[in-house]
Amino acid sequence: MPNPQAAIQRRIEQIKAELAQLGPLRPGHLSQQYNVCGTPGCRCKATPPRKHGPYYQLSYTWQRKSHSEFVRLENLAVIRQQLTNYDRLRALVDEWIGLALKATQLQRKSDSPLSKSRPKSRTPRKAAP
Ligand SMILES: [Zn+2]
Repeated sequence: MPNPQAAIQRRIEQIKAELAQLGPLRPGHLSQQYNVCGTPGCRCKATPPRKHGPYYQLSYTWQRKSHSEFVRLENLAVIRQQLTNYDRLRALVDEWIGLALKATQLQRKSDSPLSKSRPKSRTPRKAAP
């Protein structure tokens, strides 16, 4: 039977290696927008209207502040790659955390009965003299 702890550690090493390889990234969500202008007789006011666009807008929240910026069409491919890299980063980090928790649970099961018992009070132990 394979050692589950060893398998977890192997996967964590793979995750670390992949994280080290990640290219440029940024958080966010791309949305498309179509606009209507103020020019009389413009195609955007025809029937049916042919609005201007698409314009690409990048929205993201960082440190509790939301940001929004327009993305130039020529930068779209690069931005999309950065968003993909960011999603990969989050997925890898989540997987790592999940594995770490699993490893802790496995460790606890294999520990001696002594270390399973919890301290009855929250009073911090005094340092040994
Ligand atoms: Zn127009």
